[in-house]
Amino acid sequence: MSAAGIDALCVSVGSDLPYLTGYRAHISERLTMLVLDGDGTATIVIPKLEAPRVQPRGRAFAVHPWEETDDPVGIVGQLVGRATRVAIGSQTWSRFALALQAQDRRRSWVDAEDVMAGLRIVKSAGEISALRNAATSVDRVADEINEMRFSGRTELDVAREITDRTIAAGHQSVEFCIVASGPNGASPHHTASDRVIEVGDAIVVDFGGYQEGYCSDTTRMFVAGEPTADFKEAYAVLREAHASAVTFAGNWREVGHTASQIDAHARQIIGAAGYGDRFIHRLGHGIGLDGHERPYLVDGDDTLIEPGMAFSIEPGIYTPGEWGMRIEDIVVVNDTGVESLNNSDRNLRVVS
Ligand code: ZN
Ligand code: ZN
Repeated sequence: MSAAGIDALCVSVGSDLPYLTGYRAHISERLTMLVLDGDGTATIVIPKLEAPRVQPRGRAFAVHPWEETDDPVGIVGQLVGRATRVAIGSQTWSRFALALQAQDRRRSWVDAEDVMAGLRIVKSAGEISALRNAATSVDRVADEINEMRFSGRTELDVAREITDRTIAAGHQSVEFCIVASGPNGASPHHTASDRVIEVGDAIVVDFGGYQEGYCSDTTRMFVAGEPTADFKEAYAVLREAHASAVTFAGNWREVGHTASQIDAHARQIIGAAGYGDRFIHRLGHGIGLDGHERPYLVDGDDTLIEPGMAFSIEPGIYTPGEWGMRIEDIVVVNDTGVESLNNSDRNLRVVS
């Protein structure tokens, strides 16, 4: 904060709060906000009914519960005090941000990401271990899926079963479960629907959630019956692009890549095979307390790769009206290369 010229930091809902305090706030119309000033005094302003959920680590921060009839924005304003340059969490409700701004027009406001992103982008050993455990659980489920029946069932029905299996494997929650069959596969963020899966459909299965507070996210490809020749041909290109991007990322120490260069590497392979215009999204995203966080493997993100970073590598090829395909693993950068946290079978899986 001092280096960035910031006098006070205010973080509300979102993952910056649990990163700093271990407490994830309820997303609600009642304000929860941590105020940290330049002297290192930290206070959580929290609705009284939610205060019992907070367990301060030692004396790291004080808890200031507010009653239903109190003015929580006023309490935050007092704690911010004479600070003139204040960083505010990017996921704070605008209602509170606007009220804080209106309180004292002499203050200037900046995005708390200026302070937080640099901390959160490099994971500690404990965070990596939580990410690894979450990945191991979804890998187990991804391999169990081979035994599941797809054809004749709706996407929703299959998604429900995968969700249940993921909870049974150790997740506390499943945040998304994309089951995109046939033409639906061409929509990368398709929501599982009541479409009945047919014999011959390719199915994108992309799912993840929270375990020990950290996220999982993996994608594998299934075909109900026999894949078509054009699908197999494209899948071979996708496998090559995925594997090559992981190897390329792993050479970071010799070459010193940026996030955008890893994206460009995979894009070059897919483009050379003639599918360039069908790879319609970035190669990957950071992962941690949030499912999507920095760095982003996309043109323009010049973040230098360094040990402790965790991100997805997930190339895809999409043919509108016909099919889509994607392979996704989470990798963690270490001193010598990268470790793939996801290791379930990456072959095209033939299911019933
Ligand atoms: Zn995913
Ligand atoms: Zn992802």
